[in-house]
Amino acid sequence: MNNRIKKFLSYYKPYLRLFYTVMACALVGSAIALLYPLLTRYITKNILTNDLSNALNQIYIVCGIMLVLVVLQNLCQFVVDYHGHKMGAMMESDMRRELFEHYQKLSFNFYDTQKIGQLMSRVTNDLFLLSELYHHGPEDYMKYFIKFVGSFVILFFINAKLTLAIFCFLPFMAVFALYFNKKLNIALRRNKDRIADINAQVEDNLSGIRVVQSFGNENFEVEKFNYENNRFLESRKNGYKSEAYFYTRMDTFIQLITITVIVFGSINIVHASLDLADMITFLLYIAYLIEPIQKLTHVTTQFQDGITGFDRFMEMLEIEPSIKDSSNAMELKNVQGDVKFKNVGFSYNGNNQSVLNNISLDINSGDYIALVGPSGIGKTTLCSLIPRFYDVNEGEILIDGVNVKDISLHSLRRNIGIVQQDVYLFAGTVLENIRYGKPEATNEEIIEAAKNANAHDFIIALPNGYETDIGQRGVKLSGGQKQRLSIARVFLKNPPVLIFDEATSALDNESEKIVKDSLEALAKNRTTIVIAHRLSTIRNAERIIVLTDDGISEEGTHEELLSLDRTYAQLYNMQFVI
Ligand code: ADP
Ligand code: MG
Repeated sequence: MNNRIKKFLSYYKPYLRLFYTVMACALVGSAIALLYPLLTRYITKNILTNDLSNALNQIYIVCGIMLVLVVLQNLCQFVVDYHGHKMGAMMESDMRRELFEHYQKLSFNFYDTQKIGQLMSRVTNDLFLLSELYHHGPEDYMKYFIKFVGSFVILFFINAKLTLAIFCFLPFMAVFALYFNKKLNIALRRNKDRIADINAQVEDNLSGIRVVQSFGNENFEVEKFNYENNRFLESRKNGYKSEAYFYTRMDTFIQLITITVIVFGSINIVHASLDLADMITFLLYIAYLIEPIQKLTHVTTQFQDGITGFDRFMEMLEIEPSIKDSSNAMELKNVQGDVKFKNVGFSYNGNNQSVLNNISLDINSGDYIALVGPSGIGKTTLCSLIPRFYDVNEGEILIDGVNVKDISLHSLRRNIGIVQQDVYLFAGTVLENIRYGKPEATNEEIIEAAKNANAHDFIIALPNGYETDIGQRGVKLSGGQKQRLSIARVFLKNPPVLIFDEATSALDNESEKIVKDSLEALAKNRTTIVIAHRLSTIRNAERIIVLTDDGISEEGTHEELLSLDRTYAQLYNMQFVI
């Protein structure tokens, strides 16, 4: 069996008992539905005989049976509606969790090429359609099959000729339904594309609403939105038109079949080869025969939507994280913090142009080194290789003499702290955001970390102190405050190796000074690599490394490099010019 089909079915596994119960109820419910016309026939036949007092008795008995059946059918319907949907929802939730867990594992180079909005819709929309299929698919097939075959067999035994006459219509109806199915599907697909466009635009607009307002471009944005909104409206109108055509023509078919039964039935009654009770039975069963064909479009659309959703789900799930633990990955313990680059070469995904070439670098435990060089030369890239955000293409990187590829990702990253220019804070309180550095930390530890990061004073001045909500991405804080929270987070994590990537670049002079103090406190007794474009901030580094197109071109203290009078001296002098 195809692997995907196996995988598709595997999600039923935890709920097999529920599934069988729901299917059994669907079966019993449909079988009961088939009985009503038969009971009606029985009553009518009794009335048509002339023994009316007996007929009355029979009517009461049949009425009793019908009431029992109604209750039974109701129970079955409840199980199908509630437990069936519940099963679908639980399966959907399992898949959603699996996909989310998978997202957590995928590597930086995957996210470099993806649109977040689309990844989100895979977790929500696509899976919803799939859960509908998981539940309604088998149940609908079963229901329609029972009703169609059951009513055909019953009618055939009552009057074969009339049954065959009705069946002449069915192939036409089926062809017609399938033709419209195609049209409806195209319309549905277009609707989905259009609504996805609207989603993307709204997301983009709301994320950038501050830019929109600062440029005063609200009207421009509304016009852009109107365009997409109208396109969606047009596409929906077209969809409804096809739908209306479909349903009205389907009704015409049903009316034609009804007329056929009435005309041919009456003729047969006149010729005494059919009685009134049989004709009524036929009229009642027509709906059962036609329902499956009427629902053909619905069922196929549901199937296609579900399968497309499943394919999109699997496409994502089948993407292997490009960076993961090797089979014999070890845990890093008691890290000293020696970092060594050995002939490292690197280029980004599918890009032949190498960013780093033949880089060798020895950083000893406790060193405080600075990395400088022109913008875009690869400083950030070099640092992101240490925690294995990307893997080197050539050479190797060692921590305490162990190749980073042989260390478990979790323990490797646990031991490296990064403070960047762009601070990402999660929506939530100050306390929650600092705790991110060590989920099991006590409140005392968190306050201690905040004090170390020079953040405590401003935090207690906030309206709710540590419990203050900082807004999405920390919009309610200043740049310097956000940076100090991110430093507190790293204090709490307490890693032996640190990377500061332009951590103070976006700050004004005053904030910069406070943040610099926090960073220096953090760097004490740890191996630290600092990237900074303000050369004044790295002047007192023990060792300065200059990265240029030719790799590491200079290395030494501030004074040594100035006296060399090469790239560093140029960069430094430029700053003075500025
Ligand atoms: P620096 O930090 O020295 O300013 P970077 O390390 O950020 O430079 O970038 C080095 C080069 O790699 C640049 O040419 C940049 O365009 C490219 N680059 C950076 N990040 C990515 C990425 N995620 N995917 C592809 N190319 C990238
Ligand atoms: Mg950079």
